[in-house]
Amino acid sequence: MQAGQVEKIKRIVPLSALKCDTEKCDALGTNTKYEIHALFAKHNMLCDSALYLELRTSRFAPRERGVLVIKVGIGYDVHALVEGRPLILGGVKIPYECGLLGHSDADVLIHAIMDSLLGALALGDIGAHFPDHDPRYRGISSLALLEQVMGLIEEQGYRVGNIDSIIVAERPKLAPFISQMRSNLTRAMKMDESCVSVKATTTERLGFEGRGEGIGAQAIVNLEKVGG
Ligand SMILES: [Zn+2]
Repeated sequence: MQAGQVEKIKRIVPLSALKCDTEKCDALGTNTKYEIHALFAKHNMLCDSALYLELRTSRFAPRERGVLVIKVGIGYDVHALVEGRPLILGGVKIPYECGLLGHSDADVLIHAIMDSLLGALALGDIGAHFPDHDPRYRGISSLALLEQVMGLIEEQGYRVGNIDSIIVAERPKLAPFISQMRSNLTRAMKMDESCVSVKATTTERLGFEGRGEGIGAQAIVNLEKVGG
């Protein structure tokens, strides 16, 4: 299938009009594949998997109404633990002898969450959006940055389905603070608490987290196209 034919199909076929109700498309497995398969049939073409993937990943396909468009993003961040800094995780100031080093408040959990949100829409990473040499972000609350990222997600026409996250730290014990972290996040993201998960684990004293040299965090998110 030549690239020019993709453009031809896009011009001729209003994707919003396509609804495949045959069982022939079952083997393709997803609603999007139903749509694409119908598109091929309309043009008396055999389904072409390479072209299908091209259409599915193009910016054209997600605009199609009636197709559930889900994006998934992953985020990972690490900050060093040093003396003389407050320890802030999930917007909660946690009593501890050390805190995380960074230009902003170094909230490693929120940084991982923001990177997962940006990653889901291929919008780059937080370093690109909030450079660490920009004086506007010196000491800023990462909750405020999270609100800005949520604005970007809304601008792109997506809402957050759910988030799961994990903080990796040997000490201090974080269990007493998880609930407050979740409510801070749900407030900043305007989400239901049942869709925001925060967990904490240790590495059994292994690695830099285990030695108390730093704290890591990971997050995964799914976004749904609004009205999709
Ligand atoms: Zn960070």
